[in-house]
Amino acid sequence: MSEVRHNWTKEEILEIYNRPMMDLLYDAATIHRKQHDPNVVQVSTLLSIKTGGCSEDCGYCPQAARYHTGVEGNDLMTVNQVKAQALRARENGSSRVCMGAAWRNVKDGPEFDQVLEMVRGINKLDMEVCCTLGMVTENQAQRLAEAGLYAYNHNLDSSEEYYKEVISTRGYQDRLDTIGNVRKTNVTVCSGGIIGMGENVEDRAGMLVALSTLNPQPESTPINALVAVEGTPLEEEKPVSIWEMVRMVATTRIVLPETQVRLSAGRTQMSREGQAMCFFAGANSIFAGDKLLTTPNPDVNEDMKMFELLGLNPQKPFTKKVQPQTVEATDSKFEALGEKPKWTRPEHKIERNEAAKAKGKLVK
Ligand code: SF4
Repeated sequence: MSEVRHNWTKEEILEIYNRPMMDLLYDAATIHRKQHDPNVVQVSTLLSIKTGGCSEDCGYCPQAARYHTGVEGNDLMTVNQVKAQALRARENGSSRVCMGAAWRNVKDGPEFDQVLEMVRGINKLDMEVCCTLGMVTENQAQRLAEAGLYAYNHNLDSSEEYYKEVISTRGYQDRLDTIGNVRKTNVTVCSGGIIGMGENVEDRAGMLVALSTLNPQPESTPINALVAVEGTPLEEEKPVSIWEMVRMVATTRIVLPETQVRLSAGRTQMSREGQAMCFFAGANSIFAGDKLLTTPNPDVNEDMKMFELLGLNPQKPFTKKVQPQTVEATDSKFEALGEKPKWTRPEHKIERNEAAKAKGKLVK
C-alpha cells in the first residue's frame, strides 16, 4: 500500500480524499509511519530576497505588479544580508533556507550571479538551500546545482484545467518544463499547490495526479491554504476549513508516500489542534518565520512551543540526501547562455485577473 506509484487516476485519488475521516487518517498515518519518523518535522525558513514588482498575473499573489495590494517592492538583498538571516534561521531550528524572488524567470546576469553567491554562502553554513526564482533553463539549473543548491521550488498550484483560471501569463507545460530542467541536475524538486482558490475537489485530485505521475515524484510538496489578499483577483475567496486541509494533507501523504509534505501558507488560520491533526495525517515539514514572503506566519517561538507540546523534533539538515558540494564561480564549468523562455500564452485572458488589474490601475 505504501509503494510509490506513478499511475494514480483521478478517480482513485478522489476515492481516497472522500473516505470517512477516521479511515483516511488511519490510512495516511500508517503510510507515514512506514516511510518517515512521525515525530520529526523539517523546518524551513522562507526568505523573500526580492519582493514585489513581478510581471506575472498569478491570481493569488500580492507580488504581481499589476494588482494594487500594498506590498512594497524591494531590490535584491545582498549576500551578507542573506547570510545573516540564514544564521538567525539556523539558531531558531531551521535546517533549510528557501530564497524566493518575485521573478517571472531567471535572467542571466549580475543578479543571478548574486543569487548563486547566496547559494554558496548558505550551503557553507551547512544548511539546505532552496530557491524559488520562477522559470529556469537547464543551464541555469546546472549553475544552481554547481553552487550547492539542495532544492528548487516550482509549484504546479492546481490541476491543469484550473490553472488556466488563475494564471494567464504562462501555461502548465511551462511549469512542467522547469521541473524537468531541475530534474536534469542533482537538485531535488519541491512542488505542490494551493487549495481554496475556488477550485473543486476534482482539481485538487488533478493536481495530485500531476505530481504523482512525475517520475521521480517531488522530494517535497508544499500544501498551501490560500491567504486571500485584498487587491488580488482571489480577494473574495473564503478560507478553507481545517477538514479540507487535513483531507488534502492525508491524500497527498498516501499518493506521495516518500515525499516531505509541507504545511505552508495559511497556518495562522489553523489552531494547534488542527496542525497536530495535519502532522498525524502525514505533514512533516513547516515554514518557520513570522512572514511567508509577504503574508503572515506563526511566530517561531510559538512553533517551538507547539513542537515541545507535541514531542516533535526538528529534522537535521541533509537527513534525506547528502550535502551537495559547492563549486566556486571561478571554477564553474558552465557559461551563462542568455536564454529567455518564450511567452507561451499571449492571447489568454482571465476576466477576474483583468478586473483586478483595472482596479489596481485606478488606485495607483
Ligand atoms: S507567484 Fe511568483 S510568478 Fe506569480 S506573480 Fe507572484 S512572484 Fe510572480
